[in-house]
Amino acid sequence: MLNINDLLRKNIQNLKPYSSARNEFSGDDVILLDANENPKVLSGLPVGINRYPDPLQKRVKEKLSGIKGVNSDNIFLGNGSDEAIDLALRCFCNPGIDSLAIFPPTYGMYKVCAAINDVNIFEYPLNANFEIDSDKFLGEIKPEVKVVIICNPNNPTANIQSKSSIKKIIERFQGIVILDEAYIDFCPEQSLVNELSKYPNLIILQTLSKAWALAGARVGIAMASKEIIDVFNKVKFPYNISNPSLLIAEQALDKENESKQRIEEIFYERNRLLKIITTLPRVLKVYPSSANFILVKTSDAKRLYTYLVSNGIIVRNRDSETSCKGCLRVTIGLKEENDRLVELWERFEQQVQSE
Ligand SMILES: *Cc1c(COP(=O)(O)O)cnc(C)c1O
Repeated sequence: MLNINDLLRKNIQNLKPYSSARNEFSGDDVILLDANENPKVLSGLPVGINRYPDPLQKRVKEKLSGIKGVNSDNIFLGNGSDEAIDLALRCFCNPGIDSLAIFPPTYGMYKVCAAINDVNIFEYPLNANFEIDSDKFLGEIKPEVKVVIICNPNNPTANIQSKSSIKKIIERFQGIVILDEAYIDFCPEQSLVNELSKYPNLIILQTLSKAWALAGARVGIAMASKEIIDVFNKVKFPYNISNPSLLIAEQALDKENESKQRIEEIFYERNRLLKIITTLPRVLKVYPSSANFILVKTSDAKRLYTYLVSNGIIVRNRDSETSCKGCLRVTIGLKEENDRLVELWERFEQQVQSE
């Protein structure tokens, strides 16, 4: 049986966390003279903005708990899910000694976070169908690997991995598995959150940035065993999410139906865009998508990318990523935005044709 405490760095095991006096009471009817705050908000500014936020973000976690079917004690909130990725590396990987395993092509922040923390990376590329070969991975895995990150659905390939191969890795790997489900609300497959209690080494990441349309508020979610969540809460900056972001998150979480309806609209646009783009002569392949973006393989990604930019449309050029030669990643926008993209893309095709 895997012992999470044994996986932690020694300095983290021994850490005595910052203690905020605000943790020592509950209720509203108190006089707060403990934190050197300013007693009065400047005129016209939001009520309560003079006060430090709730370090454990109880109200947002209660709402999330209801939506996700996960206990509040199993939820960590971060300044974007990137904070949770960074925390996991800082808590479990000794700089210069332990390593992170990733499956490229995948989300670029994993590598950046590892580099910042001086954590070495081992790459196990996805196969031609962008799938993880879990048996091959488990057979080849280096002993230095302490943390594995699986992105599902994967960015930038937009596909999902089979549940059995994800579970096999979680069950057999003797370290921490981070399952990044940033796009899970856009895909028909179910999240693994309802099986969280079976896997003490599993950290599931979700976010309010995509399906909940709050990229600007910076609220990321990590769900894991209480043991791991307690460690994250001990290591994070005490007031890591601001009052305005927490208030906005609460408001958004009350709009679950609207969020679902918006996702349906994105699906509709995604299918429409997919059909049109597939027919263009210089489009070699449009990969199936379980996310709010599509990956498109073209015969000249660089030139198309530059053409779109010069006409005011920014997509993501993934041409230089592992197995992504010629690929552009396109986020599904509003109908008008997608129409404009199609118009320019068709014009580009005509221009190349006439040369
Ligand atoms: C967008 C995205 C996130 C979300 O990051 P935040 O910091 O929560 O905005 C996480 N993982 C992947 C793979 C993403 O594409």
